Amino acid sequence: MASDSGDRGTVCTLEFAVQMTCQSCVDAVRKALQGVAGVQDVEVQLENQMVLVQTSLPSQEVQALLEATGRQAVLKGMGSDQLQNLGAAVAILGGPSTVQGVVRFLQLTPERCLIEGTIDGLAPGPHGLHVHQLGDLTNDCNSCGDHFNPDGTSHGGPQDAERHRGDLGNVHADADGRAVFRMEDEQLKVWDVIGRSLVVDEGEDDLGRGDHPLSKITGNSGERLACGIIARSAGLFQNPKQICSCDGLTIWEERGRPIAGKGRKEPVSRPAHL
Ligand code: ZN
Repeated sequence: MASDSGDRGTVCTLEFAVQMTCQSCVDAVRKALQGVAGVQDVEVQLENQMVLVQTSLPSQEVQALLEATGRQAVLKGMGSDQLQNLGAAVAILGGPSTVQGVVRFLQLTPERCLIEGTIDGLAPGPHGLHVHQLGDLTNDCNSCGDHFNPDGTSHGGPQDAERHRGDLGNVHADADGRAVFRMEDEQLKVWDVIGRSLVVDEGEDDLGRGDHPLSKITGNSGERLACGIIARSAGLFQNPKQICSCDGLTIWEERGRPIAGKGRKEPVSRPAHL
């Protein structure tokens, strides 16, 4: 199953560092998320400047809700309700174009992998998204190899039984060129994709249903716009009280305003004036 709507998927927990100085901040944060479809539970820890949100929404949407209160919010980690750590990964997309993105992978259960992210700088409309075989960016996205396809099958859509393992279909960029997405996939596994690459393409993936000769090979989704190596992430938090559950990566939006230290490796510290 894959979904762009974000309100039908498996609930997971997002951990945000949010600047909060007093009880009224806590109340404002709670109010911002109260009654929002797709938000199941909110835990606000003022002393740790941390907000835990159980949700089926894309993290970007929750972050926007938090920041609408006038506070900075940084995604620190994602976790599932599973007691075992099944693995998480992250890919930072970039390349010769101005397209850039962050995509996170979280293995929810042995069967289901959550893939969610934000990609900016796209032309409005659908863009093919695929895991490619190689984590090789020596020649930008052109050295990433073909779609990850250990079964030797034809290209297809994420809902198809016959597809490449790396076929994630399309993400949809809005009028501002931003694609925010959250999908769940039963063919892709975090442990299979670490060390490979994720590529977003110029055009729409026809999911193997087109007339073009490339349809059954690539979905005819055009040039590779941006790519990134899929790296193992410590994105799963083991202990909700432990704030350093980060993947160690600062995304472009957070540059210049990191509130959790360089590279988000350090725990959030209380501002000096408190
Ligand atoms: Zn494919």
